[in-house]
Amino acid sequence: MLTDNHGRKINYLRLAVTDRCNLRCFYCMPEEGIEWLSRKELMTYEEMLRICSLLVKMGVDKIRITGGEPFVRKDIMQFLTSLSVLNGLRQLTITTNGVLTAPYVPELKKLGVQSVNLSMDTLDRNKFFTITKRDELPNVLETLEQLLKHEIEVKINAVVMDGKNIDDIIPLVELTKNLPVSVRFIEEMPFNGEGNHYSHLHWHYMRILRKIQERFPAIEKLPDPLFSTSYNYHIPGHKGDVGIIAAYSRTFCGTCNRIRITPQGILKTCLYDDGVLNIKDLVREGKDDEEIADNLLYAIHHRAKDGREAELLRKEKMPVHESMATIGG
Ligand code: SAM
Ligand code: SF4
Repeated sequence: MLTDNHGRKINYLRLAVTDRCNLRCFYCMPEEGIEWLSRKELMTYEEMLRICSLLVKMGVDKIRITGGEPFVRKDIMQFLTSLSVLNGLRQLTITTNGVLTAPYVPELKKLGVQSVNLSMDTLDRNKFFTITKRDELPNVLETLEQLLKHEIEVKINAVVMDGKNIDDIIPLVELTKNLPVSVRFIEEMPFNGEGNHYSHLHWHYMRILRKIQERFPAIEKLPDPLFSTSYNYHIPGHKGDVGIIAAYSRTFCGTCNRIRITPQGILKTCLYDDGVLNIKDLVREGKDDEEIADNLLYAIHHRAKDGREAELLRKEKMPVHESMATIGG
């Protein structure tokens, strides 16, 4: 079992396989995109597979594939297939914007993908365009339909943006009435590729909750699973659930069981750090598994206590020009 210097079990890797994306979500990257990584800077699938395999041997048993948009990277299904047979990996999950995902859903089911996080900040086509700069809501809804049809667990991620999708909170909650989905509202974090949008966070988790409670006063708190990042709720009579993720307020650090690897092969032991180990360099320098494992262990044994400490230790201080597409969410 992998344990960090604060006694937290580390068993969850979030791997961003690309920084590229076919949307331009307001909270993630500017309309003109970001400075994309060159092919050489990106880790190859072989390199990623080797690192994943090593981490699984060390105790990671859950891997989430994210990005950028995972389905814009060529041959992603072949990579997912190789990951799905790693001995010791219990859960393989994906976070996607759903634009290109629908046709792959039957194959994902066959690979044993049990759960997919689908990003969808509104159910209104015009607003979707305003937020993402692309008219792709119908494709995202098709992905939702396919996932439900193939009985893959769906968590819908909606980032709450002041002045942009506040009126969409209730319609998104209403989706849980007839659909067995978990709709999770996420506090907006300052990783949009262009610096802070606001002087302070307007929609923190308590305010989001109060807005939902006003419309659904009978909403009930659910017990939160051990490593959950969301506060979970259920409205009596609804098939699905509602979650709120205090990503900016960082209330979940005490039980954080996750590490991240960026598309350029940098290990982040906290969402708010700016990278603590260049794993790709170690691989390309020809280091053997034992040496790479020692470096990974060192990083995990020197992990920041929480997101505040990780932020203070950053070389580049906040606000930053980092995009969530290079972190993976
Ligand atoms: N492209 C895929 C997608 O959008 O689902 C995967 C990558 S995306 C970076 C992963 C998650 O991060 C998405 O659910 C997205 O909503 C969330 N995210 C991106 N930027 C964010 C921000 N500034 N604050 C909070 N969540 C953010
Ligand atoms: Fe692309 Fe996902 Fe970022 Fe939106 S949140 S721009 S879909 S990487």
